[in-house]
Amino acid sequence: MPHRDAALTLVAASPAPPGPEHALREVLDRLGPSVFAGLLDADGVLRYANHAALQAIGVTPEQVLGQRFDTTPWWQACELSQRRLQQALASAARGQASRFDVRLATRSGDTLAMDFSLLPLYGPDGRVAWLIPSACDVSDRERARRQLRLTRHAVEQANDALFQVGPDGAFRDANTAACRLLGLTREHLLRLRVSDIDTQVDETSWPQRWREMCERGSLRFETDVRHHDGHEIPVDVSVSLVTSDGETFAHVCVDDLRERRAAEQRIQQLLQFDELTGLPNRQRLFEHLGATLQTRAETAVLVLELDRFKRINDGLGPHIGDAVLREVAQRIAASVRNIDLVARRGGDEFVIVMPAPAGAATDLARALLGAVARPMTIAGHEIHLTCSVGIAEAPGDGDHAETLLRRANAALEQAKLQGRNHFSVYARAPHDDDPEQLALETALRQALRDEQLELHYQPQVDLVQGRIVGVEALLRWMHPTLGRIAPDRFIPIAEETGLIVPIGDWVLRRAIEQAAAWQRAGLPPLRMAVNLSARQLLQADLARRIEGLLAATGLDPRRFGVEVTESMMITNVDQAVQHLRALRALGVEVSLDDFGTGYSSLSYLRRLPVDVVKIDRSLVPDVTAPAEDVSITRAIITMAHQLQMKVLAEGVESEGQAALLAANQCDQMQGWWFSAAQPAAAVEAMLRDGRRIDPALLGRRSRERTLLLVDDEENIVAALRRLLRAEGWLLLSATSAEQALELMARHEVDVILSDQRMPGMTGVELLRRARQLYPETIRLVLSGYTELQSITDAINEGAIYKFLAKPWDDEQLRAHLREAFALKEMADQNRRLDREVQAANRELAELNRRLQTLLSAQREQNEREVGSREAAQELLDAVPVPVFGIDDEDLLVFANAPAQALFGLDGNQLGGPAAEQLPQTVRPALDGDAMLVTLAGRRWWAMSRPLSGIARGRLLVLLPQAGASK
Ligand code: C2E
Ligand code: MG
Ligand code: MG
Repeated sequence: MPHRDAALTLVAASPAPPGPEHALREVLDRLGPSVFAGLLDADGVLRYANHAALQAIGVTPEQVLGQRFDTTPWWQACELSQRRLQQALASAARGQASRFDVRLATRSGDTLAMDFSLLPLYGPDGRVAWLIPSACDVSDRERARRQLRLTRHAVEQANDALFQVGPDGAFRDANTAACRLLGLTREHLLRLRVSDIDTQVDETSWPQRWREMCERGSLRFETDVRHHDGHEIPVDVSVSLVTSDGETFAHVCVDDLRERRAAEQRIQQLLQFDELTGLPNRQRLFEHLGATLQTRAETAVLVLELDRFKRINDGLGPHIGDAVLREVAQRIAASVRNIDLVARRGGDEFVIVMPAPAGAATDLARALLGAVARPMTIAGHEIHLTCSVGIAEAPGDGDHAETLLRRANAALEQAKLQGRNHFSVYARAPHDDDPEQLALETALRQALRDEQLELHYQPQVDLVQGRIVGVEALLRWMHPTLGRIAPDRFIPIAEETGLIVPIGDWVLRRAIEQAAAWQRAGLPPLRMAVNLSARQLLQADLARRIEGLLAATGLDPRRFGVEVTESMMITNVDQAVQHLRALRALGVEVSLDDFGTGYSSLSYLRRLPVDVVKIDRSLVPDVTAPAEDVSITRAIITMAHQLQMKVLAEGVESEGQAALLAANQCDQMQGWWFSAAQPAAAVEAMLRDGRRIDPALLGRRSRERTLLLVDDEENIVAALRRLLRAEGWLLLSATSAEQALELMARHEVDVILSDQRMPGMTGVELLRRARQLYPETIRLVLSGYTELQSITDAINEGAIYKFLAKPWDDEQLRAHLREAFALKEMADQNRRLDREVQAANRELAELNRRLQTLLSAQREQNEREVGSREAAQELLDAVPVPVFGIDDEDLLVFANAPAQALFGLDGNQLGGPAAEQLPQTVRPALDGDAMLVTLAGRRWWAMSRPLSGIARGRLLVLLPQAGASK
């Protein structure tokens, strides 16, 4: 029996069947809560109102029927609407219909924005007999309009340069940032075409570029644009094609790359050179010496140390000390040949690498003693200085950088013993190096036998959720008489003597067993990371052995990771890369340890199979660090993210550092602030207790809007607090810039309103600093003084969003602040989306890699077994998200079980053209970027990637949106 509406059934069952009028009223009452309808007689008296209309003002029919319509409660909230109704009633009496927007009162005291109309209805005598008022809710439309206005405003205020370009390449629109970037007025810019500013496009190549954009829907590339005064600016361009009202244009977002390029250069500089003298630093020295030893067997290493330099530093002050070091650096540089390298190893130590046959270095050593001993005059002081030099030579004294340097050091000690101002050549003793080293070596052998070694585990914490996501296994050695010996002391010895191999094996087994035990105990999943050594990476069977250990203990490979450093890969990159690839294929995570201390080449990083970059603690900034440090860290984070790698910061020692890293999109951290390395039982307790970082610190929780007020006059702060109390915002206040910075480290601040004139740091300086540390904040100045230049500069460089004058108008100030919050929320939303896309892309890359591995494993099996095609399908079916395979002829060749279930496919469609078999909405994803689609009532990320190898074609994967944003 067909379903019937209960009310209609009721109508049908009532004793006297009602007439059509009754049925019509029923219909009018059922139109839904946002459609009002009624009936007025020719005098404008209300005779009927539908249920929704009565409901809105909470009255019964008796309370309003019989009243003149314009005096009913609906019209009491807005005088203007009431007046327009009266005009409309008059027109209707003359037979004219009206339609206009009104605001109607509601029971809750709010008003409703409605599209209202009044229609006359004629009687049989041809005169107006009835008037029909009706209204429908347009609050959504109003909201959309407001949103649009706000968006336009945001576009105008955006720091990114935004353009609209038509098919002919002409600019249709541009925001202030765009004009600023090019040094043009808007009028001027709107007379130009893309080919006038983009150095890679000219009139003739434009049509091709436009076609490409039309075909792909969106484009992203780097180019240079021409500034009005002629210089070129490197930029990153994202274009998306928009079709609106039948017209197509390109929406172009241009990101100025100068700052990023400068940061990259600065990173390189900092990582490779000593700031004081400009000489190569310790890292560069290692790199250079390693490379030299590979090509030139005969090389001398000279270590030069100034004699009693401390005397100068302490006696004349560090300024003079620095100047002396610079002078010495110059003298050394002037004494060597072009092909020699002079590096500053730290303090008052210099190292010279000199490719030369044995014996040649002694002449240079003599020259250096002479050069340093020449008196120098610095800031009016005459300074007399001497130095000592130690020499070691390859290949006689060793052929490894570390060995040579250690032996040159031993020779230097010898020279000092001879009374300084001497040089000494390393002399191999019958029992090699220093006795302490030998003793340690023997003790270490015993340690392994007597089980003096132990593993401690340091938690690694996620900076989005605040949870422990992994631990790093760190070796601890407790010697029965010598006490604790730090890894930094014994690991190098273990490396050199080869003891690291059995020790490394022990660590691997121990750590994997521990992680497997945690897995069995049902503790929250976490990843165990183990540090590998250079020698381990040289073992041919390393990856296979790890795989064996994982299989034997049953540890899920995704709960295991290895840490390697760049310097380890120098000796045999190919072998190392092969191992790491094999491990990643299993699901093991690879981290690049101590990034920033080794060779740290960013271009090299691209080529390494790495999932996580661990920023060394020397590059982890504090809230009090120079802003430059923060931009270096941020540049590393941005670059790693672009390479689809995660970033973990090491050695985080304070809450401020953690908050700063979280604010700068760093993914994870480890360090004493959260926890030092602990024995297994302590880590287990932490996991059971669910220890985590307070989400408020990470600022990712849905939280109150937070406003920071900064003014050195307490009465102004108090007045502002009073004024803004009713807004419901969390108000923080500071009476100095320093205090404000501290508050920002502890709270996620959305909007800052700062006074300009304060003792110490000015408001503009504070906001400039806030921009570098927390770029997302919206920053406003409230000042009684207008130092025009500094303020215009700050606004132009984007440090300040608005400048407001004291004394202020209460209402205006409130409006500006509300607008600032709205802007912040919109930007937050955009960033969240961006992160979702990035996370989804990373997840897809990971999924893709796993699929590829599954496919290639399957392929091998195929060769051995007949009919294993079903097995491949089974594997794909086990992947819990819909996956489609499209071959290079665009045929749909497979769909896994979730995919078939989603689209109701039954296998018969396989082999047909993909374009026909897949729903319209997901097709653009086949050749474009990831996109959000709605299918079967859910939101999905639809993404496609090319397949290489035997299975050629493309893979289309749908990830549920919630999963993508985890
Ligand atoms: P690493 O892999 O970079 O390990 C991090 C080091 O930073 C650890 O030193 C850790 O205790 C220390 N650390 C952690 N948080 C903080 C902090 O907040 N501030 C400071 N200042 N330090 C922090 P540890 O345990 O002394 O280890 C030193 C190095 O020895 C490790 O550096 C690693 O290269 C090596 N190592 C340790 N265990 C092993 C191992 O099992 N195998 C190998 N091959 N090397 C190991
Ligand atoms: Mg490590
Ligand atoms: Mg490290």
